Amino acid sequence: MSDDKKHGSGNVSPGDTSQRVGMEAVRRRGGEPEEIKETLIDAIGAEFTTYYYYTNLRCWLAGEEDYKEITEDARLEDRAHFELVMPRVYELGGQLPNDIRAFADRASCPDAELPEDPTPENILETLLEAERCAIRTWAEVCDMTRDCDPRTYDLASRIYNEEVDHEAWFIELLSRERDDEANPAGHFVRGEPGDAPYSKNHDFNESA
Ligand code: ZN
Ligand code: FE
Repeated sequence: MSDDKKHGSGNVSPGDTSQRVGMEAVRRRGGEPEEIKETLIDAIGAEFTTYYYYTNLRCWLAGEEDYKEITEDARLEDRAHFELVMPRVYELGGQLPNDIRAFADRASCPDAELPEDPTPENILETLLEAERCAIRTWAEVCDMTRDCDPRTYDLASRIYNEEVDHEAWFIELLSRERDDEANPAGHFVRGEPGDAPYSKNHDFNESA
């Protein structure tokens, strides 16, 4: 009596590859897969460009080994965020823009360019504001998906966790560098550079 199973069939005909139940399910719960997908492309555009810009910012923190190390973690974790969410764009019926310039232009955050006067203080401020934009971006995605798209919500909330970490790191460093003030993040170090404890699937709950 397998025909009687409650979820054995639905609106999408058996074998139809032009539609996705994974999108239908979002719609049925009041979400707009189109809108979510477009927001995700903007958001990972920001992760990808931030990864690029942080490469340069990290280089210009020459001689400041502690700042470089933290920037490296944030840089590699932002790349991990791009990688984590990219497949979701396709699952929601979208694709990566073919033109990298179009991709960069639609990023949801400003370019984290090297400041004209590239002092550690100015670079740390650039880094801090980039993290704040990322928090706002992923908070928006969480709000859009909380009740309708558990998969995107899970990815976005994992990234959100790391972006909040990143903000705290740069508040700590900028407070010391600019104001000679202790403003702890409560953080020591990630394991390996770019550990991404929330947004990479490896060793999330492993003991070894
Ligand atoms: Zn990020
Ligand atoms: Fe970040």
